[in-house]
Amino acid sequence: MFLNSYKITRTLPCLADPEKIRVIAEVSGEIYEAFPFLNAILKGCINNHPALTLTIKKDGKLFTLHAHHITLAKIEDEKEAEEILGWLKDLINETYEKREQIEPNYSMAAELKALDIFRLLPGTNCKKCGELTCLAFAVKLVGQEIAIGKCVPLFSDEFKEKRKVLLELLQAAGYEVPGAYLEFKEV
Ligand code: SF4
Repeated sequence: MFLNSYKITRTLPCLADPEKIRVIAEVSGEIYEAFPFLNAILKGCINNHPALTLTIKKDGKLFTLHAHHITLAKIEDEKEAEEILGWLKDLINETYEKREQIEPNYSMAAELKALDIFRLLPGTNCKKCGELTCLAFAVKLVGQEIAIGKCVPLFSDEFKEKRKVLLELLQAAGYEVPGAYLEFKEV
């Protein structure tokens, strides 16, 4: 079997929704070889091939597969995490078994949508970035016409949870995020 087992190793507060949890599970062996095949058969994945991550969106939740672990966001409890991990294990194994019949997809695929970004901005329309609204900023950011750092309020303590998620999302989607901003991810 390609993926034999997994084990929940950490349970943290969810960055996107404080009432939910974020779960990290280590997996037996490396699973990244399955990512291009999963990216080919699933809709709406964000495949960051150079970083060896694949983010799957399902029922409003984000599951990010890494070479050696899986991160689940917006999870109710450990029971739900176990169910999702079981589903992912079957999906990964079945997909990998059928890999010879699947054309691998190495593209970043799912484009980041301006609305995905907009939901993670402060939403105050303060104009400090030079744009009239946060939505206008999101549109420019998705088109790589403006730098994330222009939204100064996002880098204040008040918005640290949104900032973490947005920086992760940008990275997962293959956007170049300057190292100076990534330091804010862990704050
Ligand atoms: S600086 Fe940030 S919060 Fe203010 S309008 Fe621009 S995107 Fe919105």
